[in-house]
Amino acid sequence: MTGRRKRPPEPPVSLPEPPASVPAGEAAPEGEAKPHKTYHIDIYRAWCKECGLCAAFCPRGCLEMDDKGRPQITRPERCTGCGWCELHCPDFAVSVRESRQQASAQEAD
Ligand code: SF4
Ligand code: SF4
Repeated sequence: MTGRRKRPPEPPVSLPEPPASVPAGEAAPEGEAKPHKTYHIDIYRAWCKECGLCAAFCPRGCLEMDDKGRPQITRPERCTGCGWCELHCPDFAVSVRESRQQASAQEAD
């Protein structure tokens, strides 16, 4: 038998459905302000051994060591909540949590 084999048919191509939370064709209304996330940073002085790791690992420069070698929260407004300071503190002396504030509420102040 020398005849060529017939190729099997290709499976039908189907595109995935968009997630239900993003309705197709709908955009966010223009001019609607997104909530602005801010973060609250706490340093528990009683647990801190002043090693400086929190300040060294903060990618946003929110924390600095003062002239006595203690960590200070100098630019909290720059905090992105990444949690690196918390993660690298060997004494669990840093806590970062989100404080929910609307950008419009801040503008009203
Ligand atoms: S959470 Fe991230 S950005 Fe905020 S102070 Fe800690 S290391 Fe810096
Ligand atoms: S990493 Fe922790 S122990 Fe070290 S200076 Fe920062 S708060 Fe203090």
